[in-house]
Amino acid sequence: MAKKEFQRPDGRKPDELRPIKAKVGVVPNADGSAMFSTGDTIAIAAVYGPKKMHPQHQQNPEKAILRCNYNMISFSVADRIRPGPSRRSMEISKITEWALEPVLMLENYPNMVIDVHINIIQADAGTRCAGINAASMALAHAGIPMRGIVSSVSVGKLDKQLVVDLNKAEEDWEEGEGATDIPISMTSDGKITHFQLDGKINNEQVQEAIRMAREACKKIYEIQKEALKEFLTENEGGKNG
Ligand code: UDP
Repeated sequence: MAKKEFQRPDGRKPDELRPIKAKVGVVPNADGSAMFSTGDTIAIAAVYGPKKMHPQHQQNPEKAILRCNYNMISFSVADRIRPGPSRRSMEISKITEWALEPVLMLENYPNMVIDVHINIIQADAGTRCAGINAASMALAHAGIPMRGIVSSVSVGKLDKQLVVDLNKAEEDWEEGEGATDIPISMTSDGKITHFQLDGKINNEQVQEAIRMAREACKKIYEIQKEALKEFLTENEGGKNG
């Protein structure tokens, strides 16, 4: 009997991302902002700063502090989420800072702070990656000097099959070996700035997952770059016209 072919719940190919939308300048009062959505996951990032860090004892005389705040809004999923910080949101905020810091020239702004507020207004898995993608664009839009843009995607293993950009139904995969979720962020020249792994996977498959993430991040980078370009052409002469 022929082996049953692996099918993703939404019919995507293993290396196929969900439909992506990206837009820059979505929060007029922020210094920089962007929206990034993949399928039903929508993230909005707003950047405020660089501004003087208060209280003063938290200042770093050598560089600015990047302060990210990741938040899933209460009605972003069917089961209402309790508002306010949680262990999960604090962890993701930290990870977002670590994913973005390597491309930011924070040394240009001693004693300052750059605040990045990431709100997940709708969640269908991959929210930390969507948040990082939105934040990266918002920082560029705010005019913070950067060595490059960070792009982020989750690679997953469903039973034995590797796939990119898991949705919630895939994250909850229970057949065979179940689901392994590997969110990865990288610069446009392929340097990994963030790597997490939730589940079980062998060495070879990790290498393959990284290869798939590289291909996916290239596509995401092109979309982020287009969104930034589109903003610039629509607003020649800068953010305020
Ligand atoms: N989720 C939820 N309630 C929560 C946290 C998460 O319904 O309190 C859902 C949401 O769809 C989220 C998904 O579970 O996108 C996966 O969450 P995870 O912690 O793996 O992070 P993510 O994949 O969103 O980066």
